[in-house]
Amino acid sequence: MQIAERKVASFHYTLTNDAGDVLDSSDGREPLVYLHGAGNIVPGLESEMAGHVAGDKFKVDVAPADGYGDYIEELVQVVPRESFKGVDDLAIGMQFQAQTEQGPIAVVVTEIDDNEVTVDGNHPLAGEALHFAVEIVEVRDASDEEIRHGHVHGAGGHHH
Ligand code: ZN
Repeated sequence: MQIAERKVASFHYTLTNDAGDVLDSSDGREPLVYLHGAGNIVPGLESEMAGHVAGDKFKVDVAPADGYGDYIEELVQVVPRESFKGVDDLAIGMQFQAQTEQGPIAVVVTEIDDNEVTVDGNHPLAGEALHFAVEIVEVRDASDEEIRHGHVHGAGGHHH
């Protein structure tokens, strides 16, 4: 069975950056399971999965725009430290929800000084080219309910 719309595929992967550093891997874990065509994985990877079958091993190079997006300077903002008054132990790396005109986005604290705090709303992997080594484990039909929900149920998926 080939990966296509309305199929659920599970796969092992190792994700590296341009420098060859491993950023993420399913090694030692259950394979990642996703519903094809539902935007569950980054677009540049999803498009290359189509047509593959269980047992296939291949590599996919994904440009930033087809991965976690280009790095957008405007998403880096400096805000007064007093905006974080209620927060104990404010530290670099802490995540917050910021309200923007486009709706809430996740931001991470990247810099703190006496008066100001810098937060970055880019995805941690924004601007990075992504290099995936993929091994397809299983391909099956999605259930009607999975298609309606836009995600996988059961092992490796949503439980609700
Ligand atoms: Zn669901």
